[in-house]
Amino acid sequence: MDDDIDELVEMIQSARRAVVFTGAGISTECGIPDFRSPGGFWTKYKPIEFNAYLASEETRLEAWRRYFTIYDAVSHAVPGRGHKVIARLYHAGKVSHIITQNIDDLHRASGVPAEAIIELHGNGSYAKCLNCGERYELDWARARIESDNRPPYCLLCAGIVKTATISFGQAMPDGEMAEARAATFDADLFLALGSSLQVFPAASFPVMAKSNRARLVIVNREPTGLDALADLVIAGELGDVLSSVADQLWPGERIS
Ligand code: NAD
Repeated sequence: MDDDIDELVEMIQSARRAVVFTGAGISTECGIPDFRSPGGFWTKYKPIEFNAYLASEETRLEAWRRYFTIYDAVSHAVPGRGHKVIARLYHAGKVSHIITQNIDDLHRASGVPAEAIIELHGNGSYAKCLNCGERYELDWARARIESDNRPPYCLLCAGIVKTATISFGQAMPDGEMAEARAATFDADLFLALGSSLQVFPAASFPVMAKSNRARLVIVNREPTGLDALADLVIAGELGDVLSSVADQLWPGERIS
């Protein structure tokens, strides 16, 4: 493991422009379960597909109820060691963008400016009208549901209001996909951190980076579908691995 950390530090030092790609594993240390590990969301709930969400008020109400159950359990979460080291790398000018599959807003909370964060699967800290895009706060949606036991509709256009996240079966956001592609093609180092790399098209970005001759590093607790492609695979806890990297890059500086 120590040799792997040394190699990762060397790769970061020699990189011109790195991109970080994060999955749910970066946030488990903050108390937010991932999808596929034991105790993850999928072991409790079958995902609601986008078409089913659109098709029935009852399904939307169920989706909102589930969402608030999860949100109430995890909304107190604060950035962990991994988020903080990534933010430090960004502010040191090493990382140009963070492409994230997460909806938990913790990269922004760790001090990375919004323009450097590309949220492929949206953001779960607010809601949006699917028709006109008007933003709504979650408290507003909760109050509407509690007042008439119906899912919320847009006050401007009566469109369906949904958390600003991308569901299974929902189109990926064009702007974010284009930004992620551009950032990936500009990178000479691509760090995939805490993702099973099973959810596509998100997981196509490490493949794209590699085919563009960037060096690819994967850090994950367990093997991923793309390990064979990587220049370096570190099987370990992200908080520990990234803290060790920070200790070498900035000795004496405490990132906790
Ligand atoms: P995933 O659950 O498929 O994979 C997470 C990976 O991280 C797993 O392979 C797991 O072994 C690893 N892992 C967990 N904790 C770790 C740790 N401390 N150190 C190292 N590795 C660790 O999640 P994914 O790849 O992000 O993709 C699934 C989808 O889950 C995404 O679309 C994302 O939107 C959604 N999701 C997001 C959150 C969040 O916002 N925090 C949480 C759950 C799921």
